[in-house]
Amino acid sequence: QKAQIGVTGLAVMGRNLARNFARHGHTVALHNRSYGRTKELVEEFGHEGTFLPAESAEQFVASLERPRRVVIMVKAGPATDAVIDEFAPLLEEGDMLIDAGNAHYADTRRREAALKAKGLHFVGAGVSGGEEGALHGPSIMPGGPKESYEALGPLLEDIAAKVDGEPCCVHVGPDGAGHFVKMVHNGIEYADMQLIAEAYDLLRQVGGHSPAEIAGIFTNWNEGRLGSYLIEITAEVLKQVDAATGKPFVDIVVDRAEQKGTGRWTVQAALDLGVPVSGIAESVFARAISGGVPERTAATDAGLPGPAVTGQHAGDLRADVEQALFASKIVAYAQGFQQIQAASKEYGWDIDPGAMAKIWRDGCIIRAKFLDFIKQAYDKNPTLPTLLVDQYFLDAVSGAQDAWRRVAVTAAQQGIPAPGFSSALAYYDSLRASRLPAALIQGQRDFFGAHTYQRVDKPGSFHTLWAAEGRPEVDA
Ligand code: NDP
Repeated sequence: QKAQIGVTGLAVMGRNLARNFARHGHTVALHNRSYGRTKELVEEFGHEGTFLPAESAEQFVASLERPRRVVIMVKAGPATDAVIDEFAPLLEEGDMLIDAGNAHYADTRRREAALKAKGLHFVGAGVSGGEEGALHGPSIMPGGPKESYEALGPLLEDIAAKVDGEPCCVHVGPDGAGHFVKMVHNGIEYADMQLIAEAYDLLRQVGGHSPAEIAGIFTNWNEGRLGSYLIEITAEVLKQVDAATGKPFVDIVVDRAEQKGTGRWTVQAALDLGVPVSGIAESVFARAISGGVPERTAATDAGLPGPAVTGQHAGDLRADVEQALFASKIVAYAQGFQQIQAASKEYGWDIDPGAMAKIWRDGCIIRAKFLDFIKQAYDKNPTLPTLLVDQYFLDAVSGAQDAWRRVAVTAAQQGIPAPGFSSALAYYDSLRASRLPAALIQGQRDFFGAHTYQRVDKPGSFHTLWAAEGRPEVDA
């Protein structure tokens, strides 16, 4: 008997993916650097399906039907290269190595090119949903050669989450496209989390609500247009009471947000592409500020002054915060999708943005009802320059903007940091501005560096002779 698929790397993610394949009736070959994990999996979960445990890479490869499909689920980085180097010599033309870890898309591009030269298919697949998702149905974002999807896609679609029977898995595009999209998914996740945190902070500080009350508000919001996994779990976290002290859980946790790096990668890639993902960047920086212990301590010690929190707000705070959260969320998604489109163009990936929204509707961390509207927007117009001009989002943001502005004002006046809300609003106002002060920046650049500028009234490049009398302008 041969296995349809094999998994190497059987820590929490690999183990659950392997079980998911087996539960769907596939025979799964198992391998891990140290045999202990393989043995443990078979002992604990062997009854769930048919597993072919292997003690060596050779035995593992020999147990797979052709074309061989080898899922790699190890620590991203050098470990992935080590595993590829171990398996590539054992595989034959047309076999597939599927890296389901959180690789950087540039590494995936490099690996894909190297393995293609050896006749092997390398598929960088983004997998989202954590360990629960891996077991019960993740959102899967496979890249790599299109032809590999024919033999691989049906298996991945089998184990992916489903919405109305449709799998949350699609071939994203060639080489690193899958890992790129997974990276942006995580960047959007950072923004979503930051915005939710700001909403909580305002409700608590300005509204004077307790964490338990705010849990109730989030539960209520979860029934509406904000309905999503992250809103749902926020309510759960806020409800939690620390058993040892009886205090709200959120009050006994150190207020320094950590990160594993995919948000940072998203912003770095966006800078290279020239895409202003300001919402995602603010959320990455907000985590960094929270973790900046020396600066925060110095600021507290120096007593940096600020206004008192008066608890006043020129409107219905709860309703306004909901509007600000929704509008800011739209901006973050608009920016993330713009980044995907920019990369698709840069690398020739031909990514269908609507299909990305579709496969994020379930299984992944940012799963939400809201993604249906994004899918519809791109289905109507695949080359939409920004989600903000799609009618649904335009209506939502224009309906929210008064409340959004009131929330930003309240936060600023009472000294409560709301970088996500305010930067999203600034982005919105920048996009809709008929004239931006960028014209002045062009003037400054021309002054100190003769960088030239364009005129509004005639074509060409111009430079002003700033030091000369009468300051004539010349064609540059
Ligand atoms: P870890 O990232 O903790 O990696 C542990 C696994 O990697 C073990 O199987 C380990 O083998 C193996 N490994 C480490 N170094 C090597 C090496 N040099 N050669 C061979 N094998 C090696 O496991 P996770 O299950 O948490 O994550 C796996 C991948 O999935 C990662 O890329 C992660 O970023 C990604 N991911 C994780 C999510 C999560 O929620 N945890 C969500 C989505 C993606 P050994 O047992 O012998 O030490």
